[in-house]
Amino acid sequence: MAKLRNGPEAFERICSFCGKSADMARRLIAGPNDVFICDDCIEVCRKILNEEDHELANSFTGDIPTPHEIKKYLDLFIIGQDNAKKALSVAVYNHYKRIANPTREKENDDVEIEKSNVLLIGPTGTGKTLLAKILAKKLKVPFAIVDATTLTEAGYVGEDVENILLKLIQNAGGNIAAAERGIVYIDEIDKIARKGENVSITRDVSGEGVQQALLKIIEGTIASVPPQGGRKHPNQELIRIDTTNILFICGGAFVGLEKLISRRVVQNPLGFGSSASSGEKTLKELYDSIHPDDLIQFGMIPEFIGRLPITVGLEELKRDDLKRIITEPRNAIVRQYQASMAYDNVKLEFTEKAVDAIADMAIKQKTGARGLRAIVEKLMTDIMFDIPSIEGSKHVIITGDTVEKSQPPQILFLQKSA
Ligand code: ADP
Repeated sequence: MAKLRNGPEAFERICSFCGKSADMARRLIAGPNDVFICDDCIEVCRKILNEEDHELANSFTGDIPTPHEIKKYLDLFIIGQDNAKKALSVAVYNHYKRIANPTREKENDDVEIEKSNVLLIGPTGTGKTLLAKILAKKLKVPFAIVDATTLTEAGYVGEDVENILLKLIQNAGGNIAAAERGIVYIDEIDKIARKGENVSITRDVSGEGVQQALLKIIEGTIASVPPQGGRKHPNQELIRIDTTNILFICGGAFVGLEKLISRRVVQNPLGFGSSASSGEKTLKELYDSIHPDDLIQFGMIPEFIGRLPITVGLEELKRDDLKRIITEPRNAIVRQYQASMAYDNVKLEFTEKAVDAIADMAIKQKTGARGLRAIVEKLMTDIMFDIPSIEGSKHVIITGDTVEKSQPPQILFLQKSA
């Protein structure tokens, strides 16, 4: 409360924390109910908070999950993609080691463990973003998933590259020290490839310039982030964050990259394992033989690729994978519908033929696993609409004909309500 000094006439505003009067303090900031705080006390509070931030970030001693444990967790939700799972499990484990033992590096000044950022390459709907999302669930460090498509070079319409850090800071609850040890997944990284060799007429504001800006952040820099997102403005207060220990995982479909790899392999077949011609190579085989030059030809700048030392190709999902995705993962679509319909006293079943037909449809649509949900949702709309109005316990069977011929599902009544 504001205090009265020397009688009512000499009402004086004083700091409610240290008692300093307004004329002694540089600034006195008012709160509700005549409460004030002076600039010195604000500074003291800031220091206390900063110390707490550092303690929090340095207190990371929790059990570090081994690569095996991380992969096992990923296996619960993600079908196949073993290479990607292994690479990510190791990268994340190493990241934990780096941030949990910051002093160990210093003991041996000659050896600096560099972070190993990861690049995931694979067709749409093969699980790149899902891998990142499931990792986020498992990890005890701040994690953010951002999209590279909105980024443009500073000064142009779009978002400043620093904004990718804002989401990490927000997900760390504003704790900068914690965010500085976090992990960022940048989706659609292929969308910032240079647009062709000749870009002299129109400036490539969303390509090379963005890669250059992103490169600095990925390498490690003190970045200035606008707290409200969007573009930086002069005189705006910026959040400063050191990105040296942030792990970056980038993902993209890189449509057409396989042709570049294949062309190189045809021109220079040496070192390419099997004797079959490159035309017969599967996408996996081509990705396995990926070379940084292929990515550079695609439009990524060499320095950028150099900062993503681990490149992993994700396999195209086959019919059997899709069938497993429909039913097996912990949060499989079928399980979700079963759980949802159990509220309406419904036992929901998808026959083997129905699952086959759904997988075939997704293959035809060329959307990978991404299309599965839409297909199942369309199938379920009518039944979800009708079933809550039908009384009693029911057994609903989605058959092959329900999927292929749009026939209604079979409904068996287990027991009529009285
Ligand atoms: P992208 O590779 O384009 O990032 P996503 O990870 O976004 O693909 O996949 C879209 C959806 O498809 C996921 O949310 C998930 O439901 C399903 N999905 C894709 N790949 C897999 C997989 N390997 N295992 C299980 N589900 C998958």
